[in-house]
Amino acid sequence: MTDEEKQELCIACQKCCKLINIVLPPQVNKELLDYYKLRGFNVKEIGFGQFKGYFVIEINAPCVYLSEKGCSVYKDRHKMCREYDCRNDPAMMYEGLWTK
Ligand code: SF4
Ligand code: SF4
Repeated sequence: MTDEEKQELCIACQKCCKLINIVLPPQVNKELLDYYKLRGFNVKEIGFGQFKGYFVIEINAPCVYLSEKGCSVYKDRHKMCREYDCRNDPAMMYEGLWTK
């Protein structure tokens, strides 16, 4: 996949620019998950694949640089954003468009 193709998919997806995800293993204390739910976070259980049984706490926190057309600072985006690859992220590898 070329950089241009990746950029097009990201503009259509934007998931990792809108969400912060905390990934927790299957052994996590379920009371902690209940607490996060009570606080209004979306708690998801991964239902298949190599991370089946892991939990994801989704925090809705859109980046201030995200515009309707995608990242407004794309050429100068943060190092974390440059290096991030949703294909290796348990929280996104079943959802991000690079992974389809
Ligand atoms: S989750 Fe993947 S495809 Fe979606 S915006 Fe992030 S890097 Fe791009
Ligand atoms: S700086 Fe750009 S690529 Fe990074 S999270 Fe914000 S909108 Fe997304």
